[in-house]
Amino acid sequence: MIPSHWYNIVPDLPAPPPPPLHPATRRPVGPGDLAPLFPMELIGQEVSGERFVAIPQEVLDVYRLWRPTPLLRARRLEKALGTPARIYYKYEGGSPAGSHKPNTAVPQAYYNAREGVRKLTTETGAGQWGSALAFACAQFGLECEVWMVRASYDQKPYRRSLMQVYGATVHASPSPVTKAGSRVLADAPDSTGSLGIAISEAVEVAGAGEDVRYALGSVLNHVLLHQTVIGEEALAQLGEAPDVIIGCTGGGSNFAGLVFPFLREKLAGRIDPVIRAVEPAACPSFTRGVYAYDFGDTAGFTPLLKMHTLGHDFVPDPIHAGGLRYHGMSPLLSHMYELGMFEAVSKSQTECFEAGVRFARTEGIVPAPEPTHALAETIAEALRCKESGEAKVILTALCGHGHFDLAAYDRYLSGAMEDFALPQERIDEALARLPG
Ligand SMILES: *Cc1c(COP(=O)(O)O)cnc(C)c1O
Repeated sequence: MIPSHWYNIVPDLPAPPPPPLHPATRRPVGPGDLAPLFPMELIGQEVSGERFVAIPQEVLDVYRLWRPTPLLRARRLEKALGTPARIYYKYEGGSPAGSHKPNTAVPQAYYNAREGVRKLTTETGAGQWGSALAFACAQFGLECEVWMVRASYDQKPYRRSLMQVYGATVHASPSPVTKAGSRVLADAPDSTGSLGIAISEAVEVAGAGEDVRYALGSVLNHVLLHQTVIGEEALAQLGEAPDVIIGCTGGGSNFAGLVFPFLREKLAGRIDPVIRAVEPAACPSFTRGVYAYDFGDTAGFTPLLKMHTLGHDFVPDPIHAGGLRYHGMSPLLSHMYELGMFEAVSKSQTECFEAGVRFARTEGIVPAPEPTHALAETIAEALRCKESGEAKVILTALCGHGHFDLAAYDRYLSGAMEDFALPQERIDEALARLPG
């Protein structure tokens, strides 16, 4: 069954997360500061103290296209690994856009349409979020304008086509159509872009338009809230208590969506799983970033967010998991990481693609590059179980399929894929420009 409510973990935490700050006054932002960018209903959800938020009927009607999603046991992978562990994965790739992103795109488009907004702007990395929002806008009669990170725009032309099929306008970012993009292009005409730059461009255009708003695909509390449909379903579907829960983290939304309902049960003392986030070695905000106030975008248009960050103008190497190339992390998850509520590890992309190929050859689904990070750690955990003889129950999030990522699989299979070393100096250099 599709859950009737999203779950808000904030009131269950031992301490509330630090608030976003206005970049000029350095005081907590109020609803009025956010109103040019977001509809009031989403601003309310961003700061909500309610544990459960009812999912509107109009949203449930669209969710029904692909929800509830399956929770599957990876028996053939278990057998191939020779592990006593039981591996379960919650598969979100059956949505129209092929990932978990429509879980929040649909309510975001719905609330904007209900408040009279004409157009939504956004950024997209791998094109997953852009295609999800383009789909959702089409459902509710909204225009959609997307800034797509140049590295992905060039690597993944068919994600751009998918957005255009849904009726969206797509620009490669950095683009000459905004001041923020033009400024980057003036210094670096060959810039491969970053999510931070693309956010600046989308925010700039939304802020300038009367009936134009901005939509973010991850990071913010309301996005994580919407994604909890994943974990609520999984909690009802999984017939046993998980020992380990593993998810990949870009901005943190699919991870939070799966784990928050399980964390509620853990906080209540009913289960006791180890929870582990997996991030790319090329963009390691939890494992090598600092916990500090920083901008969510490169140009510094957004409020200051207290989060694990590599610095707002850090440009990650062009790894194929474009959805994980974000300099920061969800402030809510960052706060919970500081509270010790979960662990984090990082993985290089060749290890991840190896896991992706292994998964495809046993379970049949070709994973998106992002969840191959979770699969690589799931396989590593299952192999540790093989060593120790423990029959742990491992739950992971398979948050999207990789049908638009076959060029990346080609590079892996032909041996042309590289791992990028990330020297400490590059992180230090970007961190030196944190707002004081
Ligand atoms: C966007 C995306 C991610 C990364 O975003 P999160 O907010 O961390 O979930 C991961 N996997 C897929 C398939 C994506 O589309």
